[in-house]
Amino acid sequence: MPEAPKITQKAPDYSLELKNKKTLQFIEDVTSNADEVQKKVLGEILACNAHVEYLQTHGLNGRTDRESFKNIMPVITYEDIQPHVERIANGDTSPILCSKPISEFLTSSGTSGGERKLMPTIEEELGRRSLLYSLLMPVMSQFVPGLDKGKGMYFLFIKSEATTPGGLVARPVLTSYYKSNHFKDRPYDPYTNYTSPNETILFPDSYQSMYSQMLCGLCQHKEVLRVGAVFASGFIRAIKFLEKHWRTLCNDIRTGTLDSQITDQSVREAVMKILKPDTRLADFIEAECSKRSWQGIITKLWPNTKYVDVIVTGTMSQYIPTLDYYSNGLPLVCTMYASSECYFGVNLNPLCKPSEVSYTLMPTMAYFEFLPVQRNNGVTNSISVPKTLNEKEQQELVDLADVKLGQEYELVVTTYSGLYRYRVGDVLRVAGFKNTAPQFNFICRKNVVLCIDSDKTDEVELQNAVKNAVNHLLPFDATLAEYTSYADTTTIPGHYVLYWELSLNGTTPIPPSVFEDCCLTIEESLNSVYRQGRVCDKSIGPLEIKIVEPGTFDKLMDYAISLGASINQYKTPRCVKFAPIVELLNSRAVSSYFSPKCPKWFPGHKQWGNKN
Ligand code: AMP
Repeated sequence: MPEAPKITQKAPDYSLELKNKKTLQFIEDVTSNADEVQKKVLGEILACNAHVEYLQTHGLNGRTDRESFKNIMPVITYEDIQPHVERIANGDTSPILCSKPISEFLTSSGTSGGERKLMPTIEEELGRRSLLYSLLMPVMSQFVPGLDKGKGMYFLFIKSEATTPGGLVARPVLTSYYKSNHFKDRPYDPYTNYTSPNETILFPDSYQSMYSQMLCGLCQHKEVLRVGAVFASGFIRAIKFLEKHWRTLCNDIRTGTLDSQITDQSVREAVMKILKPDTRLADFIEAECSKRSWQGIITKLWPNTKYVDVIVTGTMSQYIPTLDYYSNGLPLVCTMYASSECYFGVNLNPLCKPSEVSYTLMPTMAYFEFLPVQRNNGVTNSISVPKTLNEKEQQELVDLADVKLGQEYELVVTTYSGLYRYRVGDVLRVAGFKNTAPQFNFICRKNVVLCIDSDKTDEVELQNAVKNAVNHLLPFDATLAEYTSYADTTTIPGHYVLYWELSLNGTTPIPPSVFEDCCLTIEESLNSVYRQGRVCDKSIGPLEIKIVEPGTFDKLMDYAISLGASINQYKTPRCVKFAPIVELLNSRAVSSYFSPKCPKWFPGHKQWGNKN
């Protein structure tokens, strides 16, 4: 297997150009030998874990070849391994899924039973994640030269963590990464030279973290060559924060003192190394921010910015127009595709249009398989993927080097940290090849109907939440005739909108407070990632119910049929995205209600005995 470029802890003693060349050569090598690398990766994983309980129970008996693995091991979802995960979480340290000690759990934004999924991970995976990060800038430098001459202004945050009953930490993968030595103690490298000091990123209070990162970004505005966040939603939140707090920020820059709301000593010290009284800069920011239009604000405040580095693929594409507005059409760059289960791949053509982004899966990261998915034609264009696979379907999985151009697949991974033939839940389409390695467009996450930030709400969760809420209507002899939903990102933060058509039999009018209770009940019923977004991260706004005129959903059906939907097979879509349909619904809304307060949310898991 080609050797990965070394991630040295000491300052590199060879030139940046040479280092970039080595990295690009590594990509060339692994993509030229994708199949052999994959075979080797699977062999290594199976040899190392030959004695783990999970593989033994299934009878793999130490075999490490692809054929035996595919014949014997089932393709699974999280629920299949949940009992094993729970044993680990409760303190069983025997080799259940992985021979190496589980170092922590990564809490995925995908949920099971309303709770974040727990992905076991091992120490060495941090090295693999760092490796993927180390590929990004050498790739980018081929298209945008000189990025080593300035800084990146990235808004990066940690989230709260919990401890399992067995004493393992459970936290999101990025929190784990930012808190690791790989990030905190990274050697000086012009490509990881950020405007935000580590202390500001690692401070858990989201207000103080955002404020101090923004202040440092403004102070170093001329040095900034690229700006970004992980997801588009996060970057837009930062701009919105600036809209709200620029006066205080300017005051700090003018006086060279830090606002008293920043109370943490380590954050204060880190910021004070950067903040100097600068009247001219304060005047300049004030002049720009007090203009009525904020179009192009990014290019104005950070004039040397060459691109915006945020994920705008998948559901994040809904934020493209807003980003274009604030950045005056700077390139929106999606660099990588990753998850709590595994970091997958990179975009080798980062300046392409967002609609054309494809990710090249790095064959060294894990062993990848692909389950073909069918698209049901028609207006809904829905994707069908069987929930459990029969033997024949299990045989239909293809290897990385065997996927077909244009075909859609669900991604299945076998990782170094104890997932075997695990269905990630993402649907990808083959867009092309880099040497023998396929490049994939991200199509969607299976079943997800609503998403604002990292929340992922599926149709069943929505249905249950609505069912709970309509109980409030019973005393009024009213029932819900039809409903659908919409992720409204025209507000910042975005929020869920539910369109309700009621059938009213009673005569007592329904007071607004009852609909507000319905909003809150829906929020209380949604998964913990949604509630965390509402309560802790403030990345999702209050849920809204819009009551529509009787007959609205008939109109919706007529419209869908006029677009070619089959009358016999027509089902009300539980989520709408198509602008004319949203307009139709809005034009028939007679009243609107918002959740009056935040739902409850506590870190950790329901079954860990905390109050969640
Ligand atoms: P998590 O498990 O919370 O780490 O979230 C990982 C999921 O986020 C992936 O499985 C994808 O559904 C989504 N995701 C990650 N990277 C991208 C990307 N570049 N484009 C679209 N979706 C992404």
